[in-house]
Amino acid sequence: MSAPSSGTATGRELVVLGTASQAPTRRRNHNGYLLRWDGAGFLFDPGEGTQRQMQFARVTAHQITHLCITHFHGDHCLGLPGVLQRMALDQVRHAVEVCYPAENRAVFTRLRHATLFHDTLDLREHPVTADGPVLATPAFRLAARRLSHRVPTAGYQLTEPDGRRMLAGKLAAHGIAGPDVGRLQRDGRLTAGGREVTLAEVSEPRPGQRFAFVMDTRLCDAAFTLAEGADMLVCEATFATAEAALARDYGHLTAAQAGRIAAEAGVRLLVLTHFSQRYGEAGEPRLADEAAAVFGGQVVLAHDLDRIPVPRRDHPA
Ligand SMILES: [Zn+2]
Repeated sequence: MSAPSSGTATGRELVVLGTASQAPTRRRNHNGYLLRWDGAGFLFDPGEGTQRQMQFARVTAHQITHLCITHFHGDHCLGLPGVLQRMALDQVRHAVEVCYPAENRAVFTRLRHATLFHDTLDLREHPVTADGPVLATPAFRLAARRLSHRVPTAGYQLTEPDGRRMLAGKLAAHGIAGPDVGRLQRDGRLTAGGREVTLAEVSEPRPGQRFAFVMDTRLCDAAFTLAEGADMLVCEATFATAEAALARDYGHLTAAQAGRIAAEAGVRLLVLTHFSQRYGEAGEPRLADEAAAVFGGQVVLAHDLDRIPVPRRDHPA
């Protein structure tokens, strides 16, 4: 993966670009989410207006290294032509990995070529054909699963491989410092102070972080599988429980169902989004309440331009 020129390893956070389903409102743009993951930037579901929302959120075209489309309803992809053209205009040179449901490859191609522009982009397409791994690097694995909507739809899960956290006190006790730490991490053992020290003696397991993205879907096994053990789950919550029948008919979740997924999957932070415009500013807190009634973890009702850190797993050493 080529690193974006303007990004540095400043952490992992979700930059919310838009949160409206179907039709934007005065306060909510169509969908759009940039997951900043160290030097990578995953742009999920850029709806109409995403390019301008990027300006407000101070997200640059160079920060986008991956594009993940769940499905090709307009509120999840009408921003693609603008974002892609902006990336070309800004001379993004790095390769960009693109994922979307394979059945609708022609729609992606149409969106890419919706208007005339000088297309210099190096897009590497990974149409999702089956449940399972899509991409893997030393820093993360991206997997996809088919969801249950009215058109082919994929949810995504990003997992950092498990690693080990070095314990400063134990390193010091063995007199290990400087380049020897790297050597020990690489080789698994090191001779220090006349005896062999193993990596296990001076470190502890550090489970990798996990992020999951579940958009338009009915309740289905795949949603639970994607969310399993996620530190952050971004989940659609189009409807309140009163509209549960509507949600099922149109292939959507209620906020309480999003809460149930988070609870059963052991999620830590649930970010609700993709709200029906019917609730309005006054009605939206009810969606968070309905999710919180079944999920004991943290619930965030997303607003446009929020920046939400991915909760850290480890305690600072
Ligand atoms: Zn949809």
